[in-house]
Amino acid sequence: MQLRQGLRVLRRATDEVQVGLDPRWAVRVAGLSPERAERLLRTGDRRVDDALPAPALDALRTAGLLRPGPARARRVRPDLRPEALAHGLVRADGDGVEAVRRRSRATVAVLGLGRAGSAVATTLAVAGVGTLLLDDERAPGPEDVAAGPDRAAALSGVLRRLAPRARVRVPRGPGRLLADPPDAVVTVAADAPDPATALTLLGADLPHLPVVTREADALVGPFVRPARAGEPPLPCLRCLDLHRAAADPAWPVVLAQLVAPRAGAGAAEPPAALAVVAGGLAAAEVLAHLDGGAPRTAGAQYEIAVPAVAPRLRRWAAHPDCGCAALVG
Ligand SMILES: [Zn+2]
Repeated sequence: MQLRQGLRVLRRATDEVQVGLDPRWAVRVAGLSPERAERLLRTGDRRVDDALPAPALDALRTAGLLRPGPARARRVRPDLRPEALAHGLVRADGDGVEAVRRRSRATVAVLGLGRAGSAVATTLAVAGVGTLLLDDERAPGPEDVAAGPDRAAALSGVLRRLAPRARVRVPRGPGRLLADPPDAVVTVAADAPDPATALTLLGADLPHLPVVTREADALVGPFVRPARAGEPPLPCLRCLDLHRAAADPAWPVVLAQLVAPRAGAGAAEPPAALAVVAGGLAAAEVLAHLDGGAPRTAGAQYEIAVPAVAPRLRRWAAHPDCGCAALVG
């Protein structure tokens, strides 16, 4: 057996070593001879079976820190090592390398490339998503990070420098997403998600995640995908509006104004820290989906408010009057 990759091994005393820093699995291995403590500190990727007494191996095994020694070390692209190591430690199968390889075969579309959308796309590209489809034909404004003929073209230049291995495409024309459906779509909008886009994505069975930035907060979620067998139905965006309308009969009137095209100047961009936190959380949700895990916002929504930008998770149920509740994968 070997130690799982990515663990810190630290001396606590001449006869005691600590493996791991994260309180979810960190364990003290005590009662070692000085020589065995030294071997554990130097072990790295090498076998630990013959270096440690049985009680120490038991402590490591119970903490889930051992893995079978592979016949050959599995290689991962150097730029994706941080992803493979950290995700390998939290996955039940311990296989961060396979999760990262799966990302490289995936395609994610990001619609809406202001500050928050740019944070989503750059995080996904750096995290190893193979193909990014970018969609935003608005001209970059003074608050955008890059210049170019439009926001999608400007951001694609940034991504080619930040993540040269990612394929970046800027599809044009109507129906551009449905022609070659991605594995997930992130929509980023000010004030409220566009109901027509949400309906199209729902109808096409495309897993999608809305990000909304408002006056001084942002919403991430719900992650909309068909419920798996045995799961309760998951809410879609219309479900949330039906819940809101039940609590506030004027909500549909308000919502119609939020999604109507604005005259004059466009919607305000979020402040920088809010855009990065909302964009990072949205990217983490998409990566959880691509890695075969469960996004936390399936059936929930992060609420992130300025100035602390500390996310709060609020749960939402499917609404019985919304036809989407029949969607079961
Ligand atoms: Zn619904």
